Amino acid sequence: MPIATVNPATGETLEEFDPHPAEEVDRRLAGAEEAFRTLRRTTFDTRAEWLRAAADLLEAESDEVAKTVTTEMGKTLTSARGEAAKCVAGMRYYADNAAGLLADEPLADPSQVGASRAYVSYQPIGPVLAVMPWNFPLWQVVRFAAPALMAGNTGLLKHASNVPRTALYLDQLFTRAGFPEGAFATLLIGSRDVERVLTDPRVRAATLTGSEPAGAAVAAIAGKAIKKTVLELGGSDPFVVMPSADLEESVKVATVARCQNNGQSCIAAKRFIIHEDVYDEFAERFVASMSALRVGDPMADDTDMGPLATESGRDSVEQLVADAVGKGAKVLCGGDTPDRAGWWYPPTVIADVTPSMQMYADEVFGPVAHLYRVGSLEEAVEIANITPFGLGANAWTQDSAEQAAFVRDLEAGLVFVNGMVASYPALPFGGVKHSGYGRELGAPGPREFCNTKTVWIG
Ligand code: NDP
Repeated sequence: MPIATVNPATGETLEEFDPHPAEEVDRRLAGAEEAFRTLRRTTFDTRAEWLRAAADLLEAESDEVAKTVTTEMGKTLTSARGEAAKCVAGMRYYADNAAGLLADEPLADPSQVGASRAYVSYQPIGPVLAVMPWNFPLWQVVRFAAPALMAGNTGLLKHASNVPRTALYLDQLFTRAGFPEGAFATLLIGSRDVERVLTDPRVRAATLTGSEPAGAAVAAIAGKAIKKTVLELGGSDPFVVMPSADLEESVKVATVARCQNNGQSCIAAKRFIIHEDVYDEFAERFVASMSALRVGDPMADDTDMGPLATESGRDSVEQLVADAVGKGAKVLCGGDTPDRAGWWYPPTVIADVTPSMQMYADEVFGPVAHLYRVGSLEEAVEIANITPFGLGANAWTQDSAEQAAFVRDLEAGLVFVNGMVASYPALPFGGVKHSGYGRELGAPGPREFCNTKTVWIG
């Protein structure tokens, strides 16, 4: 895949980038190692000051940055601005809270281990490689970088090949804010060069957000080299609606949850599992709400949804829909690729999906919702858990016993009841099963790339 900015709204290639030659990659690896020697000895206060400065820079530049994001991957300018604002808030959160989250943890009674003092100290491990996707090209990076830099680690970013301008903006952001040269750097490399970087002894660990095959490839390389990984992979989140649910609110949230980011989010609700008592009404309202979305120029203020980010992504959505329709699924709205330049696909709702269809268990990374009619909570949970994924899950019910059952039985890293699955700096984020392992954000996020050092003093 060439490293290039291609406008998904038109299909036009705007700029191509030469990958960094091996000597430049080596220089950046050396820079990350050198910066780590300095950064690990700085105080939380100093790092927090630099991170706040980075947040201020991004805030001041967010309009321009948002335009770059929209140009490279097609999300609406409004949501790109929202993504930049989320990054600013996330950086400020870790500037304020990392010292507390990474503070030493003393053993209450050290005499039980024969010590005068015993405690756990969270210490940075060194340069971490971040392999990141294009769908939230700022946030996916910042949610790794902010806690990692606050912990005293340095970061090397291998961003997706279709967002190089965003990657180069991030390359400069943290050093402009005061972090040592090399503390956070972008490597303009293709995925085939990841192995060389990851096996380099200067790189201590890796985090990857993206597809299952990419995660498996990076984890295999890291495993062989005995390096830790955190993986945040795909999801096919269930959205369960029970009879007691607030139907109006659930339809409103279902529409946003499916079509946010032009339908390309790992935590988008993808499978809508509706109790038979409310199925017909939900389906009718949901189809109306999806059909009412304004699809068009992502730069325009009144657009709800832009194009998909890449041609291959759009091809994959088309193929999954064609497979389902060919095997008897019913299209309730959308389902036709418009005849225009760029990678467009309409909001689509599909019913009568059966296990023989690929989308039953696969992730559809585009604005396609599939509906299931169920007769009980048990049946809802069974269908919810049927995919290999386990990232987020939505459940809508006012019944507290049902809420407790969903929290207990849904196989997911995140369960949101009566609200949309989202990521918050204050809460851990990650999945189970093929959605990956490890956690970003919250308290576990900054600790993932720390040496949990046991200290015993006699
Ligand atoms: P990929 O997983 O292919 O890309 C994500 C990142 O991984 C990119 O930086 C990519 O680099 C890199 N990468 C890909 N393959 C390898 C490899 N073998 N070794 C090392 N690095 C690799 O995502 P796609 O853009 O191709 O999207 C495909 C599917 O992935 C989507 O349909 C969706 O299911 C899932 N996805 C999930 C995301 C999430 O948020 N969890 C985000 C994006 C995609 P390069 O761009 O150079 O190939």
